[in-house]
Amino acid sequence: MDADAIVVGAGLAGLTATAELARAGRRVLLLDQEPESNLGGQAFWSFGGLFLVGTAEQRRMGIRDSRELAWQDWLGSAFFDREVDDPAGEDYWAYRWAQAYVEFASGEKRSWLHGMGVRWFPLVGWAERGGYLADGHGNSVPRFHVTWGTGPAVVAPFERRVREAADSGLVGLRFRHRVDGLAVTGGTVDGVRGAILEPSRAARGTRSSRTVTGEFELHASAVIVTSGGIGGNLDLVRENWPDRLGPAPDRMICGVPEHVDGRMLAIAERAGGRLVNRDRMWHYTEGIQNWDPIWDRHGIRILPGPSSLWFDARGRRFPAPHFPGFDTLGTLGAIRATGFDYSWFVLTQKIIEKEFALSGSEQNPDLTGKDIKLTLSRVRPGATAAVEAFKRHGPDFVVARTLPELVAGMNKLTPEPLLELADLERQIVARDREIDNPFTKDLQVMAIRNARRSRGERLARTAAPHKILDPKAGPLIAVRLNILTRKTLGGLQTDLSGRVIGAAAPGGVVSAGEGPRPVPGLFAAGEVAGFGGGGMHGYRSLEGSFLGGCLFSGRQAGRAVARETGALPVSRTGAAAIRRWRRRRPSSPPPCPRPGRRSAPPR
Ligand SMILES: Cc1cc2nc3c(=O)[nH]c(=O)nc-3n(C[C@H](O)[C@H](O)[C@H](O)COP(=O)(O)OP(=O)(O)OC[C@H]3O[C@@H](n4cnc5c(N)ncnc54)[C@H](O)[C@@H]3O)c2cc1C
Repeated sequence: MDADAIVVGAGLAGLTATAELARAGRRVLLLDQEPESNLGGQAFWSFGGLFLVGTAEQRRMGIRDSRELAWQDWLGSAFFDREVDDPAGEDYWAYRWAQAYVEFASGEKRSWLHGMGVRWFPLVGWAERGGYLADGHGNSVPRFHVTWGTGPAVVAPFERRVREAADSGLVGLRFRHRVDGLAVTGGTVDGVRGAILEPSRAARGTRSSRTVTGEFELHASAVIVTSGGIGGNLDLVRENWPDRLGPAPDRMICGVPEHVDGRMLAIAERAGGRLVNRDRMWHYTEGIQNWDPIWDRHGIRILPGPSSLWFDARGRRFPAPHFPGFDTLGTLGAIRATGFDYSWFVLTQKIIEKEFALSGSEQNPDLTGKDIKLTLSRVRPGATAAVEAFKRHGPDFVVARTLPELVAGMNKLTPEPLLELADLERQIVARDREIDNPFTKDLQVMAIRNARRSRGERLARTAAPHKILDPKAGPLIAVRLNILTRKTLGGLQTDLSGRVIGAAAPGGVVSAGEGPRPVPGLFAAGEVAGFGGGGMHGYRSLEGSFLGGCLFSGRQAGRAVARETGALPVSRTGAAAIRRWRRRRPSSPPPCPRPGRRSAPPR
């Protein structure tokens, strides 16, 4: 054996699992196909938004939240409908992971991260507002907690722990190791094999070479797959695209780096793992082409406030609840039903200043750099520098003083001039008449007024209602919105310990009431496992639950493997390394207790 455990993928889920294993004194090999510059994977690029429930940050803003409310919202969004009560069902473990995750997000999650030094921006964001009934999709209250320092600050404590364990000899970091297959002996996964890629100086997020310079085969008592989703592989996205969202788009932009290639899913399947809910995905409808791209077809997501008017490619305003930030997948379905793969926002300078945020650590240097002065400028008039740069250089933006000029500019951005000035004007004027009273029949105007009853929204996220055609609010702005790939909601089915469920029971026989068994030795966590259970989000997400899903499932898998390998004596090098680590870090938590092998997953 080369180690107690091998972890495939050094993103957030892999780092979390590795940190847990090292804490328990296990020897780990952490492999990644990319160079060291990529450590942390997608999470580094992320906005660092976390789904947290009933927090001090919410209370300070006057938001009353609870586990019950969060669970009601989760169920309304997930809409689990695939044999939740049948151990062989696709949603069996997904549902149980969802329960455990909402419990985690309402309880231990904040204090666990806080104890590692993670902090949050005081204004809690309101993502996925729903727009249906109380038990339907969406967050009833703001829950999107933006990490102070964004994605890199979520990665940092786990990276630090892994590097310390590497210095102590407990963890071996193997970059440029691409896993191409899992080693299976007598039905048990006991290693990985693959290609050593040539050294690369590729900057984080950029393409690295795939030239092979050698091969490797490594063995361990357990393998944890944490290789991410499929969002960077447009062929796989199209192949798995569900009919309910209309035909797969011809044109998409990419919200994730190319390493999010989905290859490990098929590799784990070949080793006997069960892939479920592969048609469930989370792609955004407010994607804009990055004028300064890092990876191929690099797109950025606008995190919109509720006021922009949303039109289809022919200039028809989308009906309720397809408003900005309400129901991502509902709007995606509505866009695809038009037969086009783009749509339009029409807004004012006043709206862009207050309501446009861009997702991604590099688009938010104030928050990422923990610059208090720069961050405070968000509540003052003016858009952020990144938004202004997109307005000036972004190929999807049109800025004009008058509506005729705006529509002419919009028509220039598409292969055919599909927009009629008179048609757009009629709809905008009609909407503007609804602003005259404090009450209205226009559901979007109602939603704006509702949002402004929330303190944080009023202060920093929702512009005061005004007429779009009021020159004082101008200039007018139009943004062509592209479909942007991002997250994989389905994946390898796992039990609550992160053990990958087998595609079939041994011998293909499943007794009544019993589901397929786990594949011995094989674990998965993070996006590749649908963030737990092969799809803990069901059909839709409440947002901010992906990073948290990596942390929770990575921790579960790491702890479970530590327990499973607990019956093995800690290797001499392992024991010595723990002693060294303790000497160096007297304040670090003690390794996990080792209760030995367990036959049933913890409840
Ligand atoms: C711009 C952006 C903004 C986001 N914002 C948020 C947010 O605010 N809140 C939120 O909750 N989520 C957000 N997300 C989503 C979240 O960051 C990801 O879902 C999460 O980080 C995925 O982590 P992971 O560890 O599962 O996979 P990844 O980060 O994809 O890491 C997987 C690693 O595995 C490696 N790998 C893959 N295959 C192999 C192989 N065969 N051999 C060896 N190595 C392999 C890859 O190179 C990669 O390093 C955002 C994502 C992006 C890109």
